[in-house]
Amino acid sequence: MEKSITPNQIKQNNRSLIYHYIYKNKSVSQQDISYDLRLSRPTVTTNLASMEKEGLIAKSGLINTEFVGRKASAYSIVADYRVSIGVEIVKKEAKIVAVDLYGKSLGRTICDIIYEYKESYFKTVCDKILEFKSTLGITDEQLLGLGFAMQGLVSPDARSMLYGRILDCTGLSIEEFTRYLPYPCTFIHDAYCAAFSEIWVSPGLTDAFYISLSKHLGAAIISKGRILVGKHGHSSTIEHIQVEPRGGALCYCGRHGCLETLCSLHVLLKEGESLDSFFEKVRKNEPSFSERWKVFLTNLARAINLLHLIYDTDFILGGHLAPYLCEEDLSFLYEKIAELTPFTEAPDFLMLSKMPRHNISIGAALTYIHAFLNDEI
Ligand SMILES: [Zn+2]
Repeated sequence: MEKSITPNQIKQNNRSLIYHYIYKNKSVSQQDISYDLRLSRPTVTTNLASMEKEGLIAKSGLINTEFVGRKASAYSIVADYRVSIGVEIVKKEAKIVAVDLYGKSLGRTICDIIYEYKESYFKTVCDKILEFKSTLGITDEQLLGLGFAMQGLVSPDARSMLYGRILDCTGLSIEEFTRYLPYPCTFIHDAYCAAFSEIWVSPGLTDAFYISLSKHLGAAIISKGRILVGKHGHSSTIEHIQVEPRGGALCYCGRHGCLETLCSLHVLLKEGESLDSFFEKVRKNEPSFSERWKVFLTNLARAINLLHLIYDTDFILGGHLAPYLCEEDLSFLYEKIAELTPFTEAPDFLMLSKMPRHNISIGAALTYIHAFLNDEI
């Protein structure tokens, strides 16, 4: 038998509808809410008053309205009613960012510290996070939690590292951080964070293969607006697909010829080289640089073709490389893919990331914001 909806659920539903309407439209009048949501004025007034009292929303000046001849009070959400912190842990740095309920960065800092599986490391990083929190004036009540973006696979309960060869952090427990941080904390795979940021800035994005082209290669499958994790948590770990098992370069996983050894920036760039200096020479057509770039793109085309044969969808090219990619590079990729693939395909499935910078640390923070907006409002 179908359960009937209770008056409390209706009240909660109305409150949630009103909050999300204000969130989406940024600055609205009571009349707008009442008209667009088909809710009675008293229902809207009561909900606005209670949410204003709790600090979830606030009046934000006056607004023109079609429904009355004078200006009406405008309501907006209080964007920093709750905030969250994302921390990206990489070998030589911990990148820390705080975001509000719109995902807007409230501040960012980098702690130059070499990762070590040592108590002194975890304490130093946590001290830096607490200092950052205090500098921004974030209260304990405001802070939803901290997401740690990790280069490796995370356990289903997000509390330990199942596989972390880049940092040598396999087996690491979240308790190494939570013993100094009395807030909810979780580990999140860095590729997941990057894809999460991409979905956040592209609300219409439902299906895509996201490829993160940074120092290391990473990927995530986005399906129906969600990121596929898989039965054992290692969906989309394309970096370890062996394409040159014999004679290929050694991957950090211990095998040879993985895509990581062909499509990551630590392979493209030489010691001490930056993306800026590399592309300056590529765009000036300096032969040795152009050649190296073409080899890289050809390998990337092999990877994309392989994945495209498995999952026929759009491919979003993200990571640190994304801002340097131009139309000419995409055309080259399409050409190479056309040579490899058995089908004639329209060149309409390669996209550039809309959020190539700070996407991992912000993505780690956004998971808490997303949960708050969807579960608690
Ligand atoms: Zn590998």
